[in-house]
Amino acid sequence: MSTSFPEARWIWKDGSLIPWADAQVHLLSLAVQFGSSAFEGIRCYKTDDGPAIFRLEDHLRRLVRSCATYRLAPAHSLDELSEACRQLVVENGLEDCYLRPMVLRGYGAPGLDPTGSPIETYIATWAWGTYLGEGALERGVDVRVSSWARPRPNTFPVQAKSAGHYNNAQLIKMEALADGFAEGIALGPSGLVSEASGQNLFLVRDGAIVTPVLDGTVLEGITRDTVIALAREDGLEVREEPVPRESLYTADELFLTGTASEVTPVRSVDRITIGTGRAGPVTRQLQAAYMDTVTGKTPDDHGWLTRVGSSATVTS
Ligand code: PMP
Repeated sequence: MSTSFPEARWIWKDGSLIPWADAQVHLLSLAVQFGSSAFEGIRCYKTDDGPAIFRLEDHLRRLVRSCATYRLAPAHSLDELSEACRQLVVENGLEDCYLRPMVLRGYGAPGLDPTGSPIETYIATWAWGTYLGEGALERGVDVRVSSWARPRPNTFPVQAKSAGHYNNAQLIKMEALADGFAEGIALGPSGLVSEASGQNLFLVRDGAIVTPVLDGTVLEGITRDTVIALAREDGLEVREEPVPRESLYTADELFLTGTASEVTPVRSVDRITIGTGRAGPVTRQLQAAYMDTVTGKTPDDHGWLTRVGSSATVTS
């Protein structure tokens, strides 16, 4: 299923706002040829105090870390990028949206040596509804275990959100969709559960919450971190540990987390029903806690919300 892009008016490029249609890169830029780009995915939510970007500072810090791994020297400070995100949401007149900062290697030298190719920074925003389809957050989704594995540690550095890595994610996603599933859960090279194409995974068993350990095959998701914090604050036990495949089928509850996907219940894996086949009580509790947090319905004790109308600064 393909959908048309929900275009906004402006894209931020290295300090200026340019029209959406003008955000072009050359065919032979290293980003196009080799996937030389680090990026982020961030959400902004409508709150009673105006739009607020969720964990902006943490996302921008992860972007800078992704850049460092790939020797991409970002031309802008965290403060500048933070301000750019806020400005763009305002200028695009969006309340509830997704933000996509990208730091990429442009058109310059041929070959794999990136020296001499310019580093360009873009930020795009667009209105984006439920990532895994209508009703996914309420009814849950059907997933399969992918035939594609996540990369072995020390092949692709998965803690970096680099565009090239998302060829693996696309293989997982396309296979799942082709077979009538909403998502694919990939195993790591050891055969243990890693993550979905663009989401971390949690299971609930005997009242405790379990998520795969960060073993070099799993992105350290910011939603994962948020859900772990909220669960512990609610007095729930959370364990990060190796997860064998069969634990998926026998879990009481299963859910996926991600900035785009938020907290999405999983109702079946490989056509095996999970629990009652509906979002279970722990999933519902954490989903509600997450949505109340991102939309400012609960007090922002963690300082996770950056109001778009205010001038919060990020320290580098
Ligand atoms: N894993 C992968 C591979 C992802 O691309 C994402 C989305 N960024 C996630 C997990 C979830 O991360 P986050 O909660 O930070 O969006």
